[in-house]
Amino acid sequence: MNMPSQVHIVEVGTRDGIQAEKQFVELDQKLRMLELIVAAGVRRIEATSFVSPRHVPQMADAAEVLAGMERPPGVEIEALVPNMRGMERALECQLDRVVLFVAASEGFNLKNLRAGREKMLDAAREAAKEAHGAGMKIRGGVVTAFGCPYEGRVPLEAVERIAGDYADMGCDEVGLADTVGMTNPVAVRRMAEHIRAKFPEIRFTLHFHNTRGVGLANVLAGLEAGVDTFDTSIGGLGGCPFAPRATGNISTEDTVNMLHEMGAETGINLGKLLEAVSYAESVFGRQLPGQLLHAGLPEWGAPAA
Ligand code: MG
Repeated sequence: MNMPSQVHIVEVGTRDGIQAEKQFVELDQKLRMLELIVAAGVRRIEATSFVSPRHVPQMADAAEVLAGMERPPGVEIEALVPNMRGMERALECQLDRVVLFVAASEGFNLKNLRAGREKMLDAAREAAKEAHGAGMKIRGGVVTAFGCPYEGRVPLEAVERIAGDYADMGCDEVGLADTVGMTNPVAVRRMAEHIRAKFPEIRFTLHFHNTRGVGLANVLAGLEAGVDTFDTSIGGLGGCPFAPRATGNISTEDTVNMLHEMGAETGINLGKLLEAVSYAESVFGRQLPGQLLHAGLPEWGAPAA
């Protein structure tokens, strides 16, 4: 099988993972989660989001999270930025990368992001200029890249168009998101192969939700198409305040375990990662969807003599 031998994990647990949780996660709990995630060797973290605190109260302490978290050298810290107001707040923080976003489907832009595609792209363009001026890298997010809860199938051309705009804005990365968890491995492979061939200068990343149990199969399809960077969330925490019926992100620990078992390297220590998952379960007082903590690490035993 042809797949990358080094795979990069972007941990989104304290952003996408908790943004729809009703229980407010206190600042010290967020910082403890992040500390355990960093200690496990995760090198890219989308730590928080500068969305309106009125719309997503869970992210109101974005600046405090970034100021308070440990950031050893080599760890890249990212935050989601929806518009110029968010960008202004982000500029006052120490960030390596901002993540902008536009939905590929107009229905999702209008119903959930409160502006049409062109307006969203204008806002992204404006924010991108500021981010570059401040020396931050940019990941352009394509929401509903694989399917929209209002419009169904999303044409390849819609995703291509936005990826092209992001390339013009100077994004080195574009993230394709299956925002509510509708896609399948065949569609993922088709999209990833097509878009990577079209924009060879851009690194494409993938973001899956396990809404219908197809999350890790989609990762495998992405790997086979040459994608080497995936968003994941500890414990499979997740959901989206603006995406009806979206459930958890694919879990970091299950994804990393699968990758390691297949011979790919992530630089992550799974035993330590499970400490972060266990802590997250204690914060929410319930078992999270990720399976590895409860199944345990695989035990292969000694080969038969
Ligand atoms: Mg998501």
